[in-house]
Parts: sequence; structure tokens; C-alpha cells
Amino acid sequence: MLISNMLTLIALILAGIHFGVPLTYYWYAKKKWLKKPWNIKTDENYKPRVTIIVPTYNEAKFIQTKLDNLYAQDYPKDLIEVIVVDSASDDGTTELVTEWKTKHRDTNLRLIREEERKGKAVALNHALKHTRGKIVIIADVDATWPNNAISEIVKWFADPAVGAVSCLKKPVGSKTIEKNYRQYYNTLRIAESKAHSTPIFHGELAAFRKELLEKIGGFPTDIGADDSHTATRIALMGYRTIVPEGIVCFEYIPRKGYHMWRIRRAQHLLQHFTKVIKENKRTLKTFKMILRVEIYLHLINPWLLVVTIALLLASALQGSLTALALLLLGLVLLLCRPFRTWIATQLYLAVASLRNPISRELIWEKHTKS
Ligand code: GDP
Ligand code: MN
Repeated sequence: MLISNMLTLIALILAGIHFGVPLTYYWYAKKKWLKKPWNIKTDENYKPRVTIIVPTYNEAKFIQTKLDNLYAQDYPKDLIEVIVVDSASDDGTTELVTEWKTKHRDTNLRLIREEERKGKAVALNHALKHTRGKIVIIADVDATWPNNAISEIVKWFADPAVGAVSCLKKPVGSKTIEKNYRQYYNTLRIAESKAHSTPIFHGELAAFRKELLEKIGGFPTDIGADDSHTATRIALMGYRTIVPEGIVCFEYIPRKGYHMWRIRRAQHLLQHFTKVIKENKRTLKTFKMILRVEIYLHLINPWLLVVTIALLLASALQGSLTALALLLLGLVLLLCRPFRTWIATQLYLAVASLRNPISRELIWEKHTKS
């Protein structure tokens, strides 16, 4: 009896930390950072040449829509250069790019074909060598930008303190779990950006000052989250890497294999944060705090939940009614959407850390999206 009480007590303490830390951080970020001014001088008239890199692997379904989406941007056409870098697609993607190009001769579009697929980051680095813009923007195919995306992004770069800018994301499709997850994360991204910088970027639209990309030697090819890691390295150099409120991209969500997709993405984020720890650079106090919390939330916090559940189960098996009641309460709470979303996200992260030693998923399976 004594042992089961002890187990329940430890479980309660761990659960308190597991839910308490992120809630406190969220509350703190909203209260202290979200209302802060940006302290960045934007300029709507700042119009440098931009290069958009579109990485493709078997994107026949969406590539022409994506190119139409870029064509519809309100930024001056003669200042936009588009580079599609394709890694040996076998579904006709490159033919569709060529066909699109013949219909839109007024665009500065270039297609680079790689003979062998070596992953997204390798392809991005390949394209980077050919860019002529001052700002380089990564544009995943399976996402739609608002028509003013480039103008809205570029105006932030008028301030030399800004090193990189990304977007907020909204999922297209019916998975509510993804919507809830996005709401919580989007708020954190903005708050962290106002405080200094966010260590999580989105490949759906990730813009970088080209000279900084060159300085850090391009995108990392040993981990999956090339967008977030590159931004973080730039923030560690002292530049602001931000996600402003105004730019929302719509992302297509896989119809099949949703859970595996979430786990793979979680694997990439974990690889990013693990690498950040190893780099262990000196940085500004505020960004250091953001990094520490995000590292904790991704690498450690999910495991407190797993251990809590295991301890409660062990305790319940030993006859503890309190443990049983707590487990039942957890099950009932799963009916509540935000709680369900949270638990699912934690489990994706836990499974992801188990999968990382087995496969790093640097070249991943293509998901069918809608
Ligand atoms: P997710 O957003 O993390 O699910 O990843 P996606 O599968 O949507 O890939 C993001 C972008 O990178 C898409 O535009 C893909 O076509 C592209 N991509 C993925 N793998 C490769 C690759 O090996 N080479 C190239 N060039 N692009 C890739
Ligand atoms: Mn995608």
C-alpha cells in the first residue's frame, strides 16, 4: 500500500511539472512578450531582389498550382527569381515545370535537376549556389501563400537587425488535432519573435538574408529540420529570426499516414534541438531562455507524461484507487479537444525520440496530401 501511494505521489508531481512548465511558459510569453512592440524598423518601399527556392520531389499534383501562386505575388516580377530544384522525381514534376514555364515567359524561372535524390537540404544547398537575390525564400510546394506574402516578408529585412523571417501556418483539411496544435504554437512563435527570436521556422515559407546563409555554410544536411536549425544559427549570431503576425500560409495535410507524418516531423525537430545543445553558443539572455525552454519542452517534457502514465498504471495494479481514479480522469479529459491535442503531440515526440536512433528520416516518403 505504501509503495503504491508513493508511486501515485511521484506521478502527481511529474504530471504537475509536465503540464505546469508549458502552461507557465505560454502564460508568461502571452503576458510579457506578446504585447511588446517589435522594435524593428520595417519599410514597405524596401524592394531588394529575392530568390525563391522551390524544392521538389514528386510534386506533380501541386507544382503548377504552386508556381501559379508565386506568379500571383504582388511583388515586382523583375525582382523575383524562382529556382525549382528537383531531386530525381519520377512522376513528371519537371515536365510540368517546363510546360508551365513555356506559358509564362515573363517569369525568371530556372529548373535544376538532380540525378539522384539526396534529400531536401542537399537540394537547397545546390540551388543556393545559383541564387542572385539578396533575400532567399524557401517555398515548399504543398503550401499556399497569400498574394502579398513576399512584400509582407521583405519589409522586415529593411532593418539590418533581422536575419530571417517565416510564416504562421494554417492546415487545410479536416484534421482538428492539427488546427489546435497550430493555434497554441503560432501564439508562441509570435511571442518568442517579439521577445527576440523563435527557434522554430517553417519550410512552407522561410526567408533568409543570403549573406548570412553563406556565412553559416548553407543548410545543415545531417538533420531534418533545415529551416528551424538555420534560423536558430542565425539567431545565435545575434540577428532576429522572427515569425510576424500578418503572414499566414495554408498547408496541405496528408490524408493517409497522418500519425507517421507527425512523428517524422517531430523527429526532425528533436534532431534540431539536440544539435543546438551540442553547439552551445553564447547568446543573448532572452534567446537563451527561449532556447532552453524549447529544448526542455521537446526533449524532456514528453517523457514526464510517459513516466506519469506508467507509474499510475503500476500503482493502480497494486490496488491504488486514487491512481485508478486519476487514470480514468485522464481518459475522460481526452474527450476535451485541447487536452487530446496536447497528449497526441507529446506521444509523437516520445515515439520520435525512440525512432531517431533507428532512422533519421533525412530522405522521407512522399505523403498524399489534400
Ligand atoms: P513536410 O512538409 O515536412 O511534410 O515535407 P514535404 O514532404 O512536404 O517536403 C517539403 C518540400 O521539400 C516539398 O516541396 C517537397 O517536394 C520537397 N522535398 C522533399 N524531399 C526532397 C528531396 O529529396 N529533394 C528535393 N529537391 N525536394 C524535396
Ligand atoms: Mn510539406
